[in-house]
Amino acid sequence: MPYSELDIAWDECGSGQTRNALERLRNLPPLSDACAACRREWIMGWAQSQLGESEEAFAHAQRAQELAVHLDDAVKARTAALCGWCLSFLGLNDEGFSAASQAVAAAERVGDPWSIAFSSYILSSVSWWGGDIAGAIPVAERALAAAQQLGDTHLQSWILFSLACMGSDLAKVARTAGDETAFVDGYEKAITLTSMSSDLAQANSDNWAQRIALANNAEFHAYLGRFALAHRLLDTWNEVGGDIVVRRKIHYLETQAEVLRLEGRLDEACDYAEQALAAAKGDSIVDMIPTGTRILSEILEARGEFEIALKLYKQFHTLEQQLEGENVKRRARVAAIIYDADKHRQQAETQRERAEQSEQEASSDPLTGVGNRRMMERAFDAMLAQDGHKVAVIYADLDHFKSVNDRYSHAIGDEVIKAFAKVLASCCRQGDHVARIGGEEFVLLLNEINDAHGATSVCERVLKKMRGYPWADIAPGLSMTASLGLARAGEAQGRDAMLALADARMYHAKQNGRDRAVTEG
Ligand code: GH3
Ligand code: MG
Ligand code: MG
Repeated sequence: MPYSELDIAWDECGSGQTRNALERLRNLPPLSDACAACRREWIMGWAQSQLGESEEAFAHAQRAQELAVHLDDAVKARTAALCGWCLSFLGLNDEGFSAASQAVAAAERVGDPWSIAFSSYILSSVSWWGGDIAGAIPVAERALAAAQQLGDTHLQSWILFSLACMGSDLAKVARTAGDETAFVDGYEKAITLTSMSSDLAQANSDNWAQRIALANNAEFHAYLGRFALAHRLLDTWNEVGGDIVVRRKIHYLETQAEVLRLEGRLDEACDYAEQALAAAKGDSIVDMIPTGTRILSEILEARGEFEIALKLYKQFHTLEQQLEGENVKRRARVAAIIYDADKHRQQAETQRERAEQSEQEASSDPLTGVGNRRMMERAFDAMLAQDGHKVAVIYADLDHFKSVNDRYSHAIGDEVIKAFAKVLASCCRQGDHVARIGGEEFVLLLNEINDAHGATSVCERVLKKMRGYPWADIAPGLSMTASLGLARAGEAQGRDAMLALADARMYHAKQNGRDRAVTEG
């Protein structure tokens, strides 16, 4: 039942039960199907990224990508997108951007709508985190349109709150530039988008997205001076059920602090900011500590406590630097993971190439390069299983070949056999097979033979080409012909009976004077 377990886990990720999803996936037995195994790693990666466990998330994303090597382009695009997402979370924005761009290109190439929506969403987020808001917005809008067309409301709600945040960032820039109208319009639009996101998340029981949307909208309303509304949204936040991830809790506390600061209720704001900071420190959510410190210092500054505020600002900068230092270490760890994954990928590739080569060697004839008996038997069975009534087989044997060896040499004999193989191959169509099954004996397997004439015309072509071949180029005075026997499906049942009939007809051709084909009787 792995597929349904995977579906359940994915639904859990979309309904705030991320820990359950992870537990479920960890408890699954090993999945032999590469597609299912890849999806499992992919969902685990997504789940851990939701929880903010970025390095673990990235390791899963990498494994998913390794497993996707032999899967289709749509899966490759999804795994590359998730890798990009995780890399950006890890502070490796350039690498994240490049992975996400490749994901979008792959998704568009294969035309898979979900992969296009998901990877565009990731690319827009990564561009936004990298500071390119103007570039991020149209990509997010494309992602939204694709998700809407698909009717995927989970994806829509995630894209909507991200798009709103990008808009609010642009609005802040507008205010700094003195454009108050653009500031207000920008925030109004962000609120509309976030409300849509919140409604969809609620309908989906997606507590994770709903909490993000509610807290964001509370902050947006506060920026426009609507404090009562902001508080109501934060009350609703508290009524949302399901697990609360620490990061969401910190986000809530920070939002409370921000709303109260903007409202001028500085003591209460200070209280929330301290709680947010304590929670980030308590759970070692290192990347949230600097933000918490900055929010607290802004409140203290507003309270006129300039000395402590300054001290905290300095701490904020030190923390930012430490975080950068931590990111450097992370980069090193991630580089090690990438290196390992690359090594595995290369090993897997070499193994596959070797397997392919030995498979090729095991099924082909070394002198002529066409198939051998083993390959012929397998191909014959496959053709009979697929479109059996349209299969025909030709037995082909060189006439008086022994005399070539005797008159010239064994080496010349070999050249003649090679030339014979070439002639036979040139008379075949796509999907037909040529195999050397003995010294100068070959079998042609023909597909899509709809009437007696189809196969007979192949025999005629072979005889004609044999007569016209420049044999004298191989050895002076040399001239070769062949005898053929044909059998069609319907004349004999099964592979061996068809081969025996074709062989018998070839002998009739020999008896009747050689350089001819016997196609019936
Ligand atoms: P027929 O017209 O009745 O087929 O006469 P033939 O001389 O072609 O008769 P036969 O099939 O008995 O001859 C096959 C010869 O092919 C016998 C063997 O010495 C030679 N032979 C088999 N394998 C090879 C090979 O790999 N290279 C060369 N040069 N000769 C081979
Ligand atoms: Mg012969
Ligand atoms: Mg022979």
